[in-house]
Amino acid sequence: MMAHRPLVAGNWKMNGLAASIGELERIIAGARILGSANVDIMVCPPATLVAGFAKAANGTRVAIGGQDCHALAAGAHTGDISAEMLRDAGAQAVIVGHSERRRDHGETDAMVRAKALAARRAGLLAIICVGETREERDDGRTRDVVCTQLDGSLPEDAREIVVAYEPVWAIGTGLTPTPDDVGDMHGLIRRQLALRYAEAGKNIRILYGGSVKPSNAKVLLAVENVDGALVGGASLDAAEFLAIAGVYR
Ligand code: PEP
Repeated sequence: MMAHRPLVAGNWKMNGLAASIGELERIIAGARILGSANVDIMVCPPATLVAGFAKAANGTRVAIGGQDCHALAAGAHTGDISAEMLRDAGAQAVIVGHSERRRDHGETDAMVRAKALAARRAGLLAIICVGETREERDDGRTRDVVCTQLDGSLPEDAREIVVAYEPVWAIGTGLTPTPDDVGDMHGLIRRQLALRYAEAGKNIRILYGGSVKPSNAKVLLAVENVDGALVGGASLDAAEFLAIAGVYR
């Protein structure tokens, strides 16, 4: 059963220039045509585009999010961006703990939790990513890895969080787990959330991420406890992204 209103969020990663505003405008126009469909739509562009995108999306059905934030509000952290800054730029959410951040920047579960807390402090929804690598999966450690990540990365209470299950080996590869495997993992995550947060854990949205495309979205998004998608590559193309969100039409 669907926990509640699903979310389809696009992670643009390190892609997009000022000229990409046209793609956002196409997403906004398409989202309008989707009308009152029961789905939240979000685009998370690189930090340079957050303010401009938020301005363009203001008053539309499309929310804007950041891709990462620092744990602190301000200070001597060259090159970093705080949750407060994202909020100030018009963001409503921020992705934290994406596997590419964990891999490229050595982010630990504790750091991810601190970022999730920063998001709450700033009034942003935190989209907290977890997922196993190919090697961990091949070693039969998927469940342990994901449970450990959840234990360490989630804040103490359940307010304003979304969990994204993103098997690392499925990101950008065109590979996806089977619907049964997705159902197993989302069921496990749902049980962990209920253990941790009791009743509130039942209402946390759990997104699936990893090579979601228009061709597989219908099947993947129909799986129990899948409350939406975090979409990378396909979110760069308005038509593909809208086709995925359109599954909820
Ligand atoms: C992602 O990076 O969050 C992601 C899911 O990427 P892709 O859809 O390209 O696999």
